[in-house]
Amino acid sequence: MGQKRFSRQVILPQLGTAGQQKLRKARVLVAGCGALGSHTAAALLRAGVGNLILVDRDLVEESNLHRVAAFIDQDVGRPKAEALANRLQAIWPEANLEAWVIHLGPREAEELIPKVELVVDGLDNLESRYTVNDACIKHGVPWIYTAVLATYGMTMAILPGEGPCLRCLFPNPPPPGALPTCATAGILGPVPQALAAWQAAAAIQLLVGAPELIPGELLYFDLWTRKVNTIQVARAPSCPACVEKRLEFLDRPSRTATLCGEVVQILPRERGNLDLVELAGRLSRLGKAELRGGVVVAEVEGASFTVFPDGRALIKGVPDPGRAQALYDQYIAR
Ligand SMILES: [Zn+2]
Repeated sequence: MGQKRFSRQVILPQLGTAGQQKLRKARVLVAGCGALGSHTAAALLRAGVGNLILVDRDLVEESNLHRVAAFIDQDVGRPKAEALANRLQAIWPEANLEAWVIHLGPREAEELIPKVELVVDGLDNLESRYTVNDACIKHGVPWIYTAVLATYGMTMAILPGEGPCLRCLFPNPPPPGALPTCATAGILGPVPQALAAWQAAAAIQLLVGAPELIPGELLYFDLWTRKVNTIQVARAPSCPACVEKRLEFLDRPSRTATLCGEVVQILPRERGNLDLVELAGRLSRLGKAELRGGVVVAEVEGASFTVFPDGRALIKGVPDPGRAQALYDQYIAR
């Protein structure tokens, strides 16, 4: 490895040559390559983490460019994982990078997570995070939960067997549509960068075995109100995942199916009563939407949605099921 590249980092007593060598050998899964994931990945790569697995099911959109430093105008329409891998490879050609253009479902999580020492969070939905949480508990792999929205974000390191997991913090998924998303609530560009910096620092601490990192310490930041809070999350005595070892999110059937006429059906994470009036109002601000005959019919981002009260949706105009599910998670319900 080039001596100069990491010289300013190696002189940190917290790292030293031994720490730098640990980073060079480390293998990290970056789950999601949007703003949060790509800034985290870039920080880890520049720090000398030698092996990164980059996973994202989605394509770069023009609306990503205000907050993702790794993407340029020509990347619009390319898979995010591939665009990010190309950019990072140019920064440090020696790094070993893998780009996976897939939805990180239970099968994929179980295939990839045992191959790494650590998972960092660049996900945009809670269901995938629960899946990662379950797979990390099953395979004993640490992960860092990080989430951003609007002007705020939070992050917490999760070490299986040594503190709380994500379901100790959020025991159950919220009902479909209950959580806002970056597409509906917006996102301030520097927020994912700030949270990615904290996430990357925690990742480096974990990889070099720094004693200062406290499992279950949740940091919450609002960059607009300039409020910072630290909360110690306790392990829930009856947590279904890390205590009772019921890893429900690894046993879920696929939620997507392609029907005839290139219609993709997406099932909700939990069947429930969707507030269709609220949904029609929300979607009409992003495209065309109306409540018609007990269903919401909408056109957003070139896709046609028919959404039923139980949360099921038919999506036309997007033949790729992974992309259809991404649109569903973004616009209909988490
Ligand atoms: Zn737990």
